[in-house]
Formats: sequence, structure tokens, C-alpha cells
Amino acid sequence: MKYIDMHCDTVMLAYFFDPEKHSMYDQPKTMIDFKRMQKGDALAQFFAVFLPPQGAFEMMHMPPISDEDYIRIARQTILDNVAAHDDIIRMAYTAEDIEKNLADGRMSAVLTMEDGRAVDGKLENIKRFYDEGFRACSLTWNAYNCFGAPNSTDPKIMNDGLTDFGKDGIRYMQELGMLVDVSHLSDGGFRDVAEICTKPFVATHSNARAVGPHQRNLTDEQIKTLADKGGVMGLNFYPMFLNPDMNKDEATAAMIARHARHIADVGGVDVVGIGTDFDGFEGKNEIMSSDRMPLLADALKAEGFTEAEIEKIYFRNVLRVMKDAVR
Ligand SMILES: [Zn+2]
Repeated sequence: MKYIDMHCDTVMLAYFFDPEKHSMYDQPKTMIDFKRMQKGDALAQFFAVFLPPQGAFEMMHMPPISDEDYIRIARQTILDNVAAHDDIIRMAYTAEDIEKNLADGRMSAVLTMEDGRAVDGKLENIKRFYDEGFRACSLTWNAYNCFGAPNSTDPKIMNDGLTDFGKDGIRYMQELGMLVDVSHLSDGGFRDVAEICTKPFVATHSNARAVGPHQRNLTDEQIKTLADKGGVMGLNFYPMFLNPDMNKDEATAAMIARHARHIADVGGVDVVGIGTDFDGFEGKNEIMSSDRMPLLADALKAEGFTEAEIEKIYFRNVLRVMKDAVR
């Protein structure tokens, strides 16, 4: 079955391996490559330009680089790789682009950003990133930035919301047609986003906190709110976010399906999507690469989802939200 994956960190690994020469077509070093996307029947893959924390460069024995330079290089890596394989994949900036690419027999690549810190408190930077093709932005990663507070085990931080700029910023993102992504955001930030957004928003890669207690996951109340707003959340394959015991670092397709079941029971099936977090998680999952995505459909079926519901989870819900909130 066709699927849309709302989140991966493959481009960060491409940068660490060699941004100039890195091939995303047949690449055993990453969980995602175009060849395995084809095998798994991908409709569209969101490729996040995730801004690594500065320590990450030292760890990889690489010189630090400015956010601006990093974004330019990482974005170009995606564009170049997609252009080099025009026979199987093309860029998409809207739901209509994805449908057109499908009609032309191509998969789609969607550019997104993870960590809005590069926006640097300026609306004109949001406009520039939109003009460069970015169609979603996770407001924060795991630290404070110009948008607001991150997820945290510290209740004070977790309760903290968006900054004044953050509030203006998400209004502007929705006006432009860029998805507001609350994955990694604090609970206070979620509350502000839900209050301000007039169009659907998303949690590209977050599970249910009632099933996996990690604070990166959404509470039942948040799931209901997201559903009321017409949004969607992407099932994350990170074992730490799936397991009832966060210290376990192995997960199965059945565990992902269990989160889907809980989320659908709480918010309805229209709020469930996929956001694998491939190339961004540690530990072992039964589904560790794009070509194994059909396993999730089997597990969802075993959880009692109908074929039509699985189709919604696999791609229809995300297409709907893109039609509502992306231009
Ligand atoms: Zn993430």
C-alpha cells in the first residue's frame, strides 16, 4: 500500500557521510534510500533538514558550520539527489504535486525543517524558507528557541509556551501555507498552537503518551485537540517512544499498531498518520527501513483496522491536511 512518511533524518546522515557525493538512491548506510522507498511502495517522503546541535559536529570529527550554511548544503543534497533520479522521484510542494507525481509514475520528496531556531525571530526568514521550498517546520527541537519551549521532564519548562514571536510566527506560517509541527514542543507550546491555529496543524513524529510514557509523545487530551483541529500525527518507530518501558530499545510492528489503535480510539482514525523518524532513532525496530513498510499494514490489520482505515493512516490523512494547510 502507498504510504507518506512525515519525518526522517536521512539528510543529516548524508551530510555526515559526505554531502557532495552522497547518493540517496542505493545507500546501505541509511534506513531510507530511493530504491528501498520504491520497494516499500512510498508515495511521498518528507525529508527534514534537522539542525544538529553543535556537539554533533565535534562528535563526527567535523568542523562546526553555521545554520545557514548547513541548511543550504542539506537542502541542495535533497534537490540534487531527486534531480538525478527524475525517472522515479520528484519534489512536491503541495498535495496536488504529490498526486501529479503519482499520475506520472513518480514518488515524491517533500522538504521540511526540524528546529525553527534558524528562523532567528524574524518573519522574513520564515518567508525565505517557504520560498526555498520548506513546507513544514518543527517549531523546536529539544531546547528553547525563538518560537518557545521544548518538551522536557522539568514541569516548569514543559508548561512554558510560545514566545510572542512564536505566536506571530505560526500565524504567518499558516498564512503562507507551511505546516506547523508540534513534535518536540512543550505541552504549554502545544496549548498555544491549538489556541492560535485556524488551520490544521501536525505532530510529524509523535506517539501516544498513554501507551509509551515518554514526554515526546502526546497526551490523550492533546490527541483529542489535534483531531478537533483536523490535524494528523505521525506514528514514530523509535523504540524509546513505543515501549511502555522507556528503557527498552527494541520494538515491533505490533507495538506501532498498538499506538495507532489507542490514538484512533481517543481521537478517531482521521488523526493517525506515519512519521517513522528513520535515520533519527537508536535501538532496534522490526521495521528499520522503507522497504519493510508493508509490515505495518499487516500489524494494523491484526489490530482490527479495515483496509479503508489503513489507507487513511498510510497516506490519505496526510494528503487531506496538506490540502487544508499547505500551499
Ligand atoms: Zn525529531
